Amino acid sequence: MSQAYGYAAQESNTPLAPFSFERREPGPHDVVVEIEFCGVCHSDIHQARNEWKNSKYPMVPGHEIVGKVSAIGAEVTKFKVGDAAAVGVIVDSCRECENCKAHDEQYCLKGAVETYNGKEYDGTPTYGGYSNVIVTNEYFVHTISPKLDPAAVAPLLCAGITTYSPLRHWGVKAGQKVGVVGLGGLGHLGLKFAHSFGAHVVQFTTSLSKAEDAKRLGADEVVNSKDEAQMAKHKGTFDFILDTVSASHDLNAYLGLLKRNGTMCLVGIPEEPAPVAAFSLLANRRSLAGSGIGGMRETQEMLDYCAEHNIVSDIEIISMDQINEAYERVVKADVKYRFVIDMKTLKK
Ligand code: NAP
Ligand code: ZN
Ligand code: ZN
Repeated sequence: MSQAYGYAAQESNTPLAPFSFERREPGPHDVVVEIEFCGVCHSDIHQARNEWKNSKYPMVPGHEIVGKVSAIGAEVTKFKVGDAAAVGVIVDSCRECENCKAHDEQYCLKGAVETYNGKEYDGTPTYGGYSNVIVTNEYFVHTISPKLDPAAVAPLLCAGITTYSPLRHWGVKAGQKVGVVGLGGLGHLGLKFAHSFGAHVVQFTTSLSKAEDAKRLGADEVVNSKDEAQMAKHKGTFDFILDTVSASHDLNAYLGLLKRNGTMCLVGIPEEPAPVAAFSLLANRRSLAGSGIGGMRETQEMLDYCAEHNIVSDIEIISMDQINEAYERVVKADVKYRFVIDMKTLKK
């Protein structure tokens, strides 16, 4: 075991504070990553505050991790010491079940091991990226291009893959009209990807101050989702809508915007379940779907796509001790568009 340090929530209602813990010694297939940057995902806040009612404490959040390899196990082939490396939302899966074999490790039938607020298969609790170092099986560690700013790459590990994967799965392409609901960390990357795939993209927002940014980020149109007249203009016209909203909102209002055979995919995970009217779905034979992060192969594909197309997150860098303030701002939808912790600011 080696000593690691980071920031943890001790309970659902206490601020994050310095915390020391142990990381395992690297096994033959493990990579030790010295963490340089970690993105702040809204899921970190939902879990630190036990909003999904599944939190285990102490919790070191963080699953948008970028850093440098400082040591490798004897059988590691993908990395050498000094390489840039990235870790996302899961750190293990059985790799034998039907879903793992289909490269959907996030849906592992044995249960994928989450980077934090989870348990390794041997029962050890997992601790995330608001820390100095992480030890992870190389299968769950990704390579990143030196062409991109590593701090701005970090959010791709969750926000990036979570939006890329459903846009790919539902085949978003040129000639289609696609909506992105919510312009936060996930939303702004969903917008960049949908635009990059050639779709006509409409950004829905409750924050009018973000309208100019939405255009710059690739939106062809911006809709104030609180304005019923603006919403009504788009009735029955969308091929696909990606809903990234983190809080309760009316799904029926968006389902009504789908055209025949259109799909709305939920990636946002509000604390409370949302009512759906059958009429919202049966008209136009609409589908309501969901999607969770992405598999390891697709995550690497997304990172390579971003390097090729120069796509990264818009970020605001914070120091580790600004984390609690950053959480408050994320909850108020006041982030443009992802906070990323500079781990150099984490003191032992
Ligand atoms: P975020 O940066 O806080 O963005 C969420 C956006 O939702 C806000 O910027 C805001 O956009 C909109 N919003 C917030 N409160 C709202 C309300 N009351 N009514 C309407 N719109 C509201 O969060 P994020 O990190 O992108 O994460 C978004 C959600 O996805 C979270 O629930 C997170 O847990 C979930 N998530 C899911 C997965 C997955 O695998 N499915 C992975 C990562 C995250 P506007 O200001 O534009 O209105
Ligand atoms: Zn996340
Ligand atoms: Zn599996």
